[in-house]
Amino acid sequence: MPKPSQPLIRVIAIDGPVASGKTVVGRELAARLGWRMLDTGIMYRALTWYALREGIELEDHVKLAETARAVTIEIGAPPSDGLETASILIDSEDATAHLREPQVEASVSSVAAVPGVRLQMVAQQREQAKRGALVMVGRDIGTVVVPDAALKIYLTASVDARAERRAREMHAHGRDIPLAIVHDEIVRRDGRDANRDASPLLVAAGAIELDTTDLDRDAVIQAVIDLVRKHAPELLS
Ligand code: C5P
Repeated sequence: MPKPSQPLIRVIAIDGPVASGKTVVGRELAARLGWRMLDTGIMYRALTWYALREGIELEDHVKLAETARAVTIEIGAPPSDGLETASILIDSEDATAHLREPQVEASVSSVAAVPGVRLQMVAQQREQAKRGALVMVGRDIGTVVVPDAALKIYLTASVDARAERRAREMHAHGRDIPLAIVHDEIVRRDGRDANRDASPLLVAAGAIELDTTDLDRDAVIQAVIDLVRKHAPELLS
C-alpha cells in the first residue's frame, strides 16, 4: 500500500554561518513567495541585549534560561531605516535599535549556547512555523526547529568574502569597522556557534548547500529561486 503522503510543511529553512547572506536571501525569497519571514537571530540578539542591560552574568545559565522563560517577545513590522527585517519588543521594550550593538554582537553566541535559552526560543519559533508560509533564517532551523521543512538550504561563503560583505553592509549603515576586526569577529562567532553542545551550526540532513563566495547578491537570490523551482516547485504554485 502506498504510504500516505506527509502534509507539506510550508516552511523554507535557511541556515548558515555569520554573514553568509541568509537574511538578504530570506527577505527576498519571502517577498517573491508572498510569505512571512522570520530572522531567528534577532530573538537571540534581543534577549542578549536585555540580559546585558539587566546586568545578568553571561556565565549564569540558570538565570539566562529563567529570563528567556519569563520575558515576552513580540515581533513586528520592519523599522523604517531598513536595516532589520522586523522590529522586536522584549517585555514591551523596543530592542530593535540595539540588536547590532558591539556588546550584543560580542555576547550573543554565548547566550545562544545556553540550552534553556534555546528551548524557549525554539518553542516560539515552532509556533510561528505552524502557521506556515514562512521563510525562516538561522543556525538550527533545518536541524532542530523545523527538520521537516519543505526545503532546507545551507548558505556558505569563504570567511574573507563574508567579512568584506559584512564590513560593506556596516559601512552602508554608517558604521566603519576595520576589515580585520570584522573578520576576527566572524571567526570567533562561527567557532562558538559550530562548537557548542546545544544545536550546533551544521548542515541539516537533506539540506542543499550553496557556496556564495563568487556570487553577487542578485546571483545568490537567483540561485536560491532556482533551488526552490527544482526541489520544491509546489511552493511556487
Ligand atoms: O543570524 P545572526 O548573526 O543575527 O545571529 C546572531 C547569533 O544568534 C548567532 O551568532 C548565533 O549565536 C545565534 N543564533 C542561533 N540560532 C539561530 C539564530 C541565531 O544560535 N537560529
